[in-house]
Amino acid sequence: MKLIYTPVFFGHLRYSWWAGECGMTHPYGLISAGDITSGVNAQKTFKKPKGIEELYVDSGGYQMITQGMYFTPEQVAEWQENVGADVKIILDHPPRKLVGVGMTERLEGPEFVKCLDETIDNTKRMIATYKQSTKVYGALHGKDSSQTDMWFTKLSKVYDFDGWAISIARKAAEPLEYKIKLLGEAGIKRIHIFGTANFMVIAKCARYMRDYGVEYCTFDSTGYIATKFSNVFYPTIENMMTWFSRAEGKHELRLACDCPVCRILKPNEYLDQGDEVEFGYIASIHNIYHIQRVAEVVAELVKYDDTYKEILNIYKDIKLPILTELGYSLSDFAEE
Ligand SMILES: [Zn+2]
Repeated sequence: MKLIYTPVFFGHLRYSWWAGECGMTHPYGLISAGDITSGVNAQKTFKKPKGIEELYVDSGGYQMITQGMYFTPEQVAEWQENVGADVKIILDHPPRKLVGVGMTERLEGPEFVKCLDETIDNTKRMIATYKQSTKVYGALHGKDSSQTDMWFTKLSKVYDFDGWAISIARKAAEPLEYKIKLLGEAGIKRIHIFGTANFMVIAKCARYMRDYGVEYCTFDSTGYIATKFSNVFYPTIENMMTWFSRAEGKHELRLACDCPVCRILKPNEYLDQGDEVEFGYIASIHNIYHIQRVAEVVAELVKYDDTYKEILNIYKDIKLPILTELGYSLSDFAEE
């Protein structure tokens, strides 16, 4: 089983993790239509960079709900092909409603069905718009087995998807296993996990995928810059924002790291010059290198144990070389 990290593209990242100039080549990435209008990122003018072999292009369905954006399925479909998507994720209408700033609630009954019907309609319109034969992923939703069954049964009739994208609901292990089981038993070989920076849950997914015959798993997160992943790989700081605002204690930021990225780009030298911004750019690339390295170890580990509980215990004890250097173990990734 392959477990591959697809870092999210940001306009302000000035180093390419895919092209070799950073001491590594990781030819994967993800970009979302939901960021087109935000102005923060480079999506408006974004084109797949040379060297990226598998570009995932998400639709922005979640942002339409949470950020009040609107695009038609045709607009998203055209944009996906214009940027050079290798994997296009259909514009879903997640079965949720906004109940506060960035907060959503799950929908039930007729409201759930309405979201499903909209997703089906969007899918039909996108399929009719696509001109390129690159891969298309469905998006699977449902808070329990009956919702998940209904969503999968109806949506999978619309198109023979090359793979499916799923979200990780916190503290909802059963629907997660149920979704992966359902997809695996239906013969789906490719799954993408939407935004997560929790390696314990990724490991759990990897486990289920192995059990149910899914061969190829990708996952995305912006966390290599400012959340959970960076806390671990950047042990002494909370996030990018605090680095930028911190006036004292620069020595705390120092990376004790000998990875290829740090060997070539020398982040600590920028710190010595007082250039924390440049240091931050390099740190983000360094994080991507380590996240993918841990992912490969996790994919290897799931071959060897029998239950999730065992794998958790193994993780607690395991000392990956890089994490040991930084004084961490894999269990430090866990949010649970
Ligand atoms: Zn490093």
